[in-house]
Order: sequence, then structure tokens, then C-alpha cells
Amino acid sequence: MTIPHIIGGVETESADGATFDDVDPYTRSPYASVASGSAVDADRAVSAARSAFDNGPWPRMSSVERGRILHRLADLVEQHADELALAESRDMGKPVHVARTHDVPRSAQNFRFFADHARLATSDALPSNEDLHTYVQYAAAGVVTAIAPWNFPLMLETWKVAPALAWGNTVVLKPAEDTPHSGYHLGRLALEAGLPDGVLNVVQGFGPESVGEALTRDPRVDRITFTGESGTGRAIAAAAARNLTPISLELGGKGANIVFDDAELDSAVDWSIRAAFGNAGQVCLAGSRLYVQRGIYEQFIDRFVSAAQALVLGAPTDAATEVGPLASETHHAKVVGYLDPSRTGGASTLTGGPGEGWFVRPTVLADVPPTADVYREEVFGPVVTITPFDHDDEAISLANATRFGLSAMIFTQHLGRAHGVASRLRSGNVWVNCFFVRDLRAPFGGIGDSGVGREGGVFSRDFFTEPRTVCMKLPDLPVVA
Ligand code: NDP
Repeated sequence: MTIPHIIGGVETESADGATFDDVDPYTRSPYASVASGSAVDADRAVSAARSAFDNGPWPRMSSVERGRILHRLADLVEQHADELALAESRDMGKPVHVARTHDVPRSAQNFRFFADHARLATSDALPSNEDLHTYVQYAAAGVVTAIAPWNFPLMLETWKVAPALAWGNTVVLKPAEDTPHSGYHLGRLALEAGLPDGVLNVVQGFGPESVGEALTRDPRVDRITFTGESGTGRAIAAAAARNLTPISLELGGKGANIVFDDAELDSAVDWSIRAAFGNAGQVCLAGSRLYVQRGIYEQFIDRFVSAAQALVLGAPTDAATEVGPLASETHHAKVVGYLDPSRTGGASTLTGGPGEGWFVRPTVLADVPPTADVYREEVFGPVVTITPFDHDDEAISLANATRFGLSAMIFTQHLGRAHGVASRLRSGNVWVNCFFVRDLRAPFGGIGDSGVGREGGVFSRDFFTEPRTVCMKLPDLPVVA
């Protein structure tokens, strides 16, 4: 199979004909050949998006009409759910049934939500007693570069593409090199749904010094939305600064999960397992630093370790599989590297370690020094550190002692404690007695090394539009006798 670019509504090879292999992480063999884009292909895609924005119907359509097309696209995503779920799984190893029941429905929902959100949106009118009528228009920003990671490919691509399109922009999407497949499908389905040519372009290939970087340097691009590593975020911010292109960066995390001694234990263990090992831990929001109050520490560890050991590793196509292989050979080597004693600081491994092929078994580390790499850095694999604490203040200061600030979880039955601790956590997202549950109206993003800006609901609107203030002097009204 060959995966081309989609530029200006046409499936096309790279200008120089270059390709690379798409490798299935379970079989560890190539299963598709992918067009490898260059700066020339980035230029073609931005030209197509620019022309579709400047001259095409999309930004000029009513939000009702755009919404109709985006709902049709959501229908098509649902109709092709099996195919898309398999594509996600073959590209990055997640169980097909998880992609089928979670990632793909969420991707369709992204189109439905943002189509409706744009259609139903209101804007501010600012009353005044000085004969002035001031109001705000939300005009499409223009051409959007959307660069996505490989961990939830379609879900995160649609999280960017859907609001950008709903507000009338045109888009160049670059999927991660490891996960080209679902983005290509999305580009095809968008054309089938009736998006005009050039409104959604999908270019494949690599980031640094290649097509990805070229998409961040092009002065014809009006917005850059990126999800990926903090280091890449810095490189993109520097590239964007040349043209003062506004950026939205959703970056890495090192989520703290605080379990208090009044927590409902079964539920806390269950959610904590999902937070640590869901998607094989390849989740920016993962609860990879677990803090447990000393009174329940031993009891929690027993249950948590047993639950980790009970997770089923296996073929992503098998309905019983809960943890698949890691997404690529490079990523597997990176995660395994964190398990070296030099990087765990001599921590005790309660369970886990490297598995067969590109698998890593759910790994629980205790007695981890706070200076250890595995404790401080984002591992992005099924590896969790577990640390006891005595009181609330200690838990909060442990949780906040990181350069990241994306996610945190609290497990407690005490209402005041839940709200009080949540308000003191330096984190863009805090879950109480749950994890990963999302309301698409809410702001999503992180603090510090976890990102710049927020997306979701009106926050996406504010990023993907140029709010324009219109101030009108009202005429003096004639005095009627
Ligand atoms: P990377 O930063 O390596 O890559 C992300 C995307 O950026 C890929 O498409 C990549 O292309 C591209 N890219 C890399 N370098 C450049 C560059 N200089 N210019 C333009 N594009 C570039 O992240 P991963 O794909 O490895 O994803 C994992 C990371 O994503 C983790 O750190 C995780 O925490 C973070 N993440 C954050 C989320 C959030 O919402 N905050 C959600 C999900 C993940 P290529 O693949 O070719 O390198």
C-alpha cells in the first residue's frame, strides 16, 4: 500500500518521489510506503491552502453550510470506523478495539462539536451610554498549520482540524511520521464529504529540517497548532517567531496522581491503572507520578501491583489485549533506557520491565530518588513511580515540583479537600476521582514545559480567529415632540 500526500484535492507523490516505510510495531515489519515530503511539498500545500482561503468558497460560506459538511465528514468517519481503527493500530500498536470504541468516535465527535459550536456561537456586544455601539466579529484567521503526534493520531488531528475548519480556515495537516495512515484517510473522507479542494491538505513526512519545519517557517501561514514534545515546541516557537505567527502548543507532561487515605480504594486503583498504563502509557496526561498517603501506602501498592500484573499484553487485533507494543523501535529504546539503574536512581522495581519485541510490561517503581531521570522526565511509556506522603501540603508540593503542568489527579471522598487541593495544583487539568474525561467546551492545555495557550470551546475560537472590534457611532436621534 502507498500513502500519498493530499494537496489541493489531489493525491500526489512527493515532488522528488521520496518515500519511507510505515512500520507495524507488532510485526516490526513495514506494511506501507509513505510519501516523504520536503520543503517543496510544504510550499505546494501552503499555496493550495492559501488559494483556497483567499479565493475559495470555504471562508465565505455560512457556518450553517460549513457545519453541514463537517457533520457529513463525521458521518463518514463513523462509517469508516473499522478501517480507521485498524489504521491507528497498525501504525502505532494500540489495541484495535480501543481505537474503535474510543479514538474514532471521539474524532467524529470533534467534528460534530466544533461544527455546532461555531454555528451556535454568539459574540459580545458592549453597551455604552455614549451613543456608541461596539461589538466583536470572529473572522477566520487564514491558513493553519496543524502538526500532530503519534499517540492518538486521528483524535488529536481532528481536535485541531475540526475547530480550524469550523471557523472558516484552511488547513495543512502534517501527521507524525510514525502514524501517516489515518490522516491520509481523513483527507480523502473530507473530499468525499464535500470540503472544497485545498481546504484540508495532508502532507506526510518528517519534522526537523524537512516538511514539518518548512510548514512552521512559511510566512503565508497564519496559525500554527502543535502537539508533541516540549523540545519540539521550543523549536516551533522559535521558527514561528520569525513571522510572529501565533502558536498553540500542547506539549509533554509528568502528571501527579494523589491518592488520599480517605479515597474509595477500588475505584482509585482502577483509575490509577488507566492513568498510568492506558495507551501503554503513551499519554501526555498520564498519571506517571503516583503519590499515596502513608496510611494506605502498603495496601494500595498490593492492589495496584496486582492490577498492573493482570493487564493483558498481546496482539493489537486481539479483543482481550489491553496493552500493545510501543509505537516504534526508537520509542521503545527510549522507554527501556529509562529503566536502566543509572536512570532510576537505583529504585526498586515492584513489577514490570522490558517485554518481548517492542513491548514494555507495566512497570511500577518505588523508592525513586527525586533526582532520578525516570522521576523528573516524561517517559511516555507504561512506567509509574510511586511515593508515599504524610499530609496535604506535602502532596501538593511534591505534585508541583516539576517543570511540567498539564495534568493532575486527586482521589479523595472529602469534598473540601478535593476543591482545596485542586486549586493549589499547578496544572492545566485536574481530575477528581476520575481521569481523561473531557468536556470539549473546557480549556485544554498546560503550564510551563507543558505548553502555551489553550484549545477547546471558545478557547479554540479565540485561537483560530482574528477577533475584530467594530465600534460604531450612533447618529443623534431626532427629538420627537
Ligand atoms: P514530537 O515532538 O517528536 O513530534 C510531534 C510532531 O512534530 C510530529 O509530527 C513531528 O514530525 C513534528 N516535528 C518534529 N520536529 C519538528 C520541527 N522542528 N518542526 C515541525 N514539526 C516537527 O512528539 P511525538 O510525536 O514523539 O509525540 C509525543 C509527545 O507529544 C510527548 O512528549 C507527549 O507528551 C506529547 N503530547 C502532548 C499532548 C498534549 O496535549 N499536551 C497530547 C499528546 C502528546 P516527525 O514525526 O516526523 O518527527
